[in-house]
Amino acid sequence: MEETPNKDTDWIKTLPKVHFHLHLDGSVRLNTIWDIALKDNIDLGVQSIEELKKICQITEPMSSLQEVLDVFWVHQKVLNSYANIKRVTIENIEDAFKDEVVLLELRFAPTFIAAGKQNLSNEDIIRGVLDGVQEGMQKYPVEVGLIAIAVRGLDHEANKRALNDIIKFKDGSHACANRLVGFDLAAGESGTQAEDFLDLVTTAREAGLHITVHSGEDTDAEHVRQTIEVLGAERIGHGIRSWNDDEVIQLIKDRNIHLEISLSSNWLTKTVPSIAEHPIGKFYEAGVSISINTDDAHLMGIDLIHEYELIAENHGLTREDFIKINKDALEHSFLPEDIKGKVRDQYFK
Ligand SMILES: [Zn+2]
Repeated sequence: MEETPNKDTDWIKTLPKVHFHLHLDGSVRLNTIWDIALKDNIDLGVQSIEELKKICQITEPMSSLQEVLDVFWVHQKVLNSYANIKRVTIENIEDAFKDEVVLLELRFAPTFIAAGKQNLSNEDIIRGVLDGVQEGMQKYPVEVGLIAIAVRGLDHEANKRALNDIIKFKDGSHACANRLVGFDLAAGESGTQAEDFLDLVTTAREAGLHITVHSGEDTDAEHVRQTIEVLGAERIGHGIRSWNDDEVIQLIKDRNIHLEISLSSNWLTKTVPSIAEHPIGKFYEAGVSISINTDDAHLMGIDLIHEYELIAENHGLTREDFIKINKDALEHSFLPEDIKGKVRDQYFK
């Protein structure tokens, strides 16, 4: 049989990758949503998996934020028990393994997952994720870190309670307690100020959690500046709108802040007008530390390989560029140095 020539982008598949920005609660597989809905009798208002696909995936830029939020709630509904949360955690680790991700930082928002569910406690959620990480790492050679999210727009006290529960687990005896490494603020930044969340960020930092913040996605460079100066974020989710402000770019570089970049997500939320106009190439050329991420893989119907292909095709980044980006990203991982060192020695020497 004649061998078929490799697809041009097959080299992307085998590159060892670092993936920092992936929402567990925005990345449940289509088949899993369907399966859990049937098993647990959850009414999603659809009769077939084809209909489900239409309400649980975003594949074209959305016309309103409400439209985007509606889609998230479909994923949220099936994260309804310890067992299902554990399952989805393991599946995200399996997906990472398939994308040749060697270090994954998975994030989740207890307040969002728990919303509207009387019988689901923060403890069920956190234990489900931690047990999922433990089993996932036994099955797949992926080093996993966890980032807990406080959601802007949800009750501040609920966010505070969730953070305190996260800290209890972090300081507790679970075999994967040391995997709880980061704290994040997510959801719309517009109309909020960095100061509004300073108490949460300070509590998290004092407990030993690293800080990343969604910023400069639906807001401008000034918000990115506040995220850095007021909240002391070490990494920024997106940060895209800082591109047109030389001073903020300089601040990002001076403080060695890392930007978690997600091309498809930025296009689908209209943060950028098109994939080709995304400033990733500009950030990279300016010497800003970046990583390549999916944000909400299954909700957007993408995987990480797809994002690398987009960047290679539209922004001309090469194999060497991707190796450099991942090597550098590893240094910005929130995982402890002994775990990072292992990954460095094995994949990035
Ligand atoms: Zn995000």
